[in-house]
Amino acid sequence: MALSGLDVYKLLPKTNCKKCGFQTCLAFAMQLAKKAVAVDKCPFVTEQARVVLEEAGQPAIRLVAIGAGERPALIGNETVLFRHEEKFHHPTALGFILDDTLSAGALAQALKEIEALDFERVGQRLQVDLVALRETSGDPARFLAALGTLRQRTTLPLALMARTPETLKKALETAAGDRPLVYCGHIQDFDDFLKLAQAYCVPLAFRAPGIAEFSSAARKALAAGFADLVLDIDDIPAAERLWQLTQLRRLAVRKGARGVGFPVMAIVRARDPLPAAVEASLYIAKYAGLVLLETRQPQYILPLLTLRQNIFTDPQKPLQVEPRVYAVGAAGDRSPVLVTTNFSLTYYTVLGELEASRVPSHLICVDTEGMSVLTAWAAEKFTPEHIADTLVKFRLEEIVKHRRLIIPGYVSMMSGDLQEKSGWEILVGPREAASLPSYLKNLKE
Ligand code: SF4
Repeated sequence: MALSGLDVYKLLPKTNCKKCGFQTCLAFAMQLAKKAVAVDKCPFVTEQARVVLEEAGQPAIRLVAIGAGERPALIGNETVLFRHEEKFHHPTALGFILDDTLSAGALAQALKEIEALDFERVGQRLQVDLVALRETSGDPARFLAALGTLRQRTTLPLALMARTPETLKKALETAAGDRPLVYCGHIQDFDDFLKLAQAYCVPLAFRAPGIAEFSSAARKALAAGFADLVLDIDDIPAAERLWQLTQLRRLAVRKGARGVGFPVMAIVRARDPLPAAVEASLYIAKYAGLVLLETRQPQYILPLLTLRQNIFTDPQKPLQVEPRVYAVGAAGDRSPVLVTTNFSLTYYTVLGELEASRVPSHLICVDTEGMSVLTAWAAEKFTPEHIADTLVKFRLEEIVKHRRLIIPGYVSMMSGDLQEKSGWEILVGPREAASLPSYLKNLKE
């Protein structure tokens, strides 16, 4: 559980020797409690205190990484119950279950469909995270062959749902380097699966009937020095599972219960696509770190990814697009140049109107840390100096032959200053983006 500054202070030597770079032990304690410095900055802290302080520095829900490739699925590392208290750190990973009874061709086709679940929304890329291979055949050879196909054809992180430790061992002999998540579906097999996960350094998910069973198995793993755990709530109706997910998060975050301080996964029970998507949305909303489902039709997955994006957006950070010059239509060296901020909502509103105008143009997005036009102007992030520098930085002089820049009507007051600083002729555009099509159509060359 998180310690207060005073709790931390009590564990420090209290000599105010300044070796840590702070004037007093209390000042250092305050920073340590905020996790702004590391405990090893104080060379005099006792071993006993160090253990307590390092343990307190762990997030309520541990971070677990699945996969060893370019895009591992990172789940957990959560510290709060509600997003507004700080933020949620890692979006729920979305994975798809494939059965080993599928032929190699069907597996390849399924992977193609899964990898095509790749969308863009408000400047962000929405992608799925993982493929889980489930042994339904009961035939280890078939499971291993299917694993071979998956490893050959996808770079997505994998989860291995083998039925027995023997099959899992054989799978890990070839695939452990990919750092797959291994899944133990029966609590009575936990010890055997734990030994394998530990030996091959891969994360372990396990299913248990309730909180007490999770806690006792997890404590056993922690005592053995293994912490890469993911909890899977038993196969119970969605409403009960939601209750359990909430209890687990509360226990970990509010009570500091280390035995349940791990990401939780949920396997969607519903088979029909629409109920499956609705069920998955419950788990994304509260508080699954990983959701596995069988449905993979894009029309059901896009709403889930959109929901996830909205829930996991940092409330203190506005959605932003990359600051750069965007060509709208077949923009050429005589096309008009407009400037706006990189707040996603502003950018997409302006872009929509530019596209509707059918006048090819260049749109410069200035880095205003995601603020809208007037807010950025008031915060001095959308100033004549900054815009003039942006014109130089993005080499506008090489992109167009003219030197005319259209600024939003809301910041007309900066036109004179901007003209002076940039050397460009400044035209004041309309206040509202909706007026851009008629403005551009009446613009004289
Ligand atoms: Fe206190 Fe340790 Fe910092 Fe010295 S180095 S002031 S003992 S916290």
